Amino acid sequence: RRQIIIVTAIIAVGIIIMVSIGVVQNKPLHQKYKYGIVLDAGSSHTSVYVYEWPAEKENNTGMVQQKHACNVKGKGISSYSGTPDKAGVSLKECMDEAKMTIPKHRHHETPVYLGATAGMRLLKMDDDTASEKVLKSVENFLQTYPFSYRGARIITGQEEGAFGWITVNYLSNNFRKASGTMGALDLGGASTQITFVSGQNLESPDNSIDFRLYGNDYHLYTHSFLCYGKDQGLKLSIKQQIQSKNDMTGNITLEDPCFNPGYSVIKSLQSVFDSPCTKVNGPRIEKNFTHIGIGNWHKCHEAVRMIFNNTYCHYSRCSFNNVFQPTVEGRFGAFSAYFFVMNFLNLTAYSLNGAKEKMADYCTTNWNILKQKHPNVKEKYLGEYCFSGTYILTLLEDGYKFTSDNWKNIDFIKKIGDSEAGWTLGYMLNLTNMIPAEAPDTPLLPYG
Ligand code: AMP
Repeated sequence: RRQIIIVTAIIAVGIIIMVSIGVVQNKPLHQKYKYGIVLDAGSSHTSVYVYEWPAEKENNTGMVQQKHACNVKGKGISSYSGTPDKAGVSLKECMDEAKMTIPKHRHHETPVYLGATAGMRLLKMDDDTASEKVLKSVENFLQTYPFSYRGARIITGQEEGAFGWITVNYLSNNFRKASGTMGALDLGGASTQITFVSGQNLESPDNSIDFRLYGNDYHLYTHSFLCYGKDQGLKLSIKQQIQSKNDMTGNITLEDPCFNPGYSVIKSLQSVFDSPCTKVNGPRIEKNFTHIGIGNWHKCHEAVRMIFNNTYCHYSRCSFNNVFQPTVEGRFGAFSAYFFVMNFLNLTAYSLNGAKEKMADYCTTNWNILKQKHPNVKEKYLGEYCFSGTYILTLLEDGYKFTSDNWKNIDFIKKIGDSEAGWTLGYMLNLTNMIPAEAPDTPLLPYG
């Protein structure tokens, strides 16, 4: 018995010593960390990100990392247009989590930024007063926290594109490597962004942004397509199909090739025509339609192509809708809904043609079989994956003009290291001046 006690005591002391060495090695006790909070107020939901970095190394690239993320329950802040007072308090749980994550003595110096994207851009177009009230509500609420509040605003599509590009390249350490940068493809619910360094002449000033970062000049092409996020894209496609197949007088049935066979849901026309992207003049039609799936990828592809206007281009080349775009160059990271959808459909490692074949298969799968197979996936997402996958392939191929040859240059990504790809980190780095224009004295990292 004495032997057992001695052995146990030795093991316990050993564990204590090992743990303390580990703590000291992984996180020196005197290491000081700083924090920043960014709220991404997207069209479908809000996420709160807490970033962390060693206090003495603010200007070294790659030092800021995501420490914590929280998804706000419920819909995006633009859905509070009718009850703006509730927008602010909807953020409570996630803001309380942020407060718990950050050491108390850092609270007062931790900046908090809220950036709203295309959902709020659309609300502003529809009802300026309501959008102001929603922003005021989140502003008032965020100011009740002990952090350093730095504003809540609707960011522009250009900012959304450019900061997404900064994020992925910062996290990949590309600014200090000779290997060049990668482009950023971001797909939200209400808008979508494409941003990349182009050696070509940028024919429209709206699409051009110049940055000087760590001593290098970057000449960026960027464009944000409002209404071409995947939720608004779906509305555009349903509107287009309903209008081309119905005279809107009798009962309306939409046989939609982008939904699985067996899918049949009664929806209100209002839910399709309620956005500035799909608005039609004339009186509100208070009517329902039956949305029936017929699951046919080729027809779905044709239907989705109809919402991209490729008929004219006033520049030397365009993506679609008469928007200038130089030919895509180099590697791309595709994130947000690009990742959610392509990851669910297991398409991240396929060629363009391979992905189309898999989509054809997926779209013909019966709706009830799909539901049985994926009992834990939200029905709204599950029902939409045939459309969403087709939308993504069409946007990339017929919209941005990716081809079978350069398809392999697109990486569908969610995170780089521990940090999520998206505009928030780039936004914070920029506003806190954490990316210097000139290089610090340390030499450029070697290629690779
Ligand atoms: P936003 O709220 O504007 O950032 O847009 C996010 C988009 O991603 C919306 O279209 C959401 O419906 C979509 N989304 C989020 N999570 C998933 C998921 N797990 N599967 C499919 N789509 C998703």
